[in-house]
Amino acid sequence: MESENSSIRPPLSCPFDKLHPSQLVRDDKFYMSLAFNLAVDAWRVDEVPIGAIIERGGEIIAAAHNEVERAGDPTAHAEILAITQAAKKIGDWRLNECTLYVTKEPCPMCSGATIMSRLSRVVFAWGDPKMGCMGGATPLHSLPKLNHRVTVTAGVLEQPCKEILQAYFNLKRGRDSEATA
Ligand SMILES: [Zn+2]
Repeated sequence: MESENSSIRPPLSCPFDKLHPSQLVRDDKFYMSLAFNLAVDAWRVDEVPIGAIIERGGEIIAAAHNEVERAGDPTAHAEILAITQAAKKIGDWRLNECTLYVTKEPCPMCSGATIMSRLSRVVFAWGDPKMGCMGGATPLHSLPKLNHRVTVTAGVLEQPCKEILQAYFNLKRGRDSEATA
């Protein structure tokens, strides 16, 4: 039996189940449900539970979750990974006709990437008043001299996407304070 003080701790088990949206109605909620499911996958490998999907013409061309810990890379946010995947998939870095669905409002880095990749639309679930740069803390996408305009929709499937993040951080904080006690 493994000691409780083992330095290799198992990943925190995720108390959230995946969603099973109807395949018939492909609306914002449908795509956000898939992004939420990626957030569950992230938790299961002990990454911050944030998921992202990129859709173009009804097709999902990218799907990713946060991988900062595994990659040891502070830029490995779900949005950045999805944008890179999408550009590779369509063979063009301009994501003009694409929509990004992400479970949390993009941070400064990812908000910048949505502008630089010329995404047509960003849909996010939970608005982040501290770090969100698509309206929450500041609207980076509304820089007055920007030629490209990205349309932003907030609050789609906000409840589960917010709850999973909050639950993860609460549990992490609890475990970290236990470890140092
Ligand atoms: Zn980010």
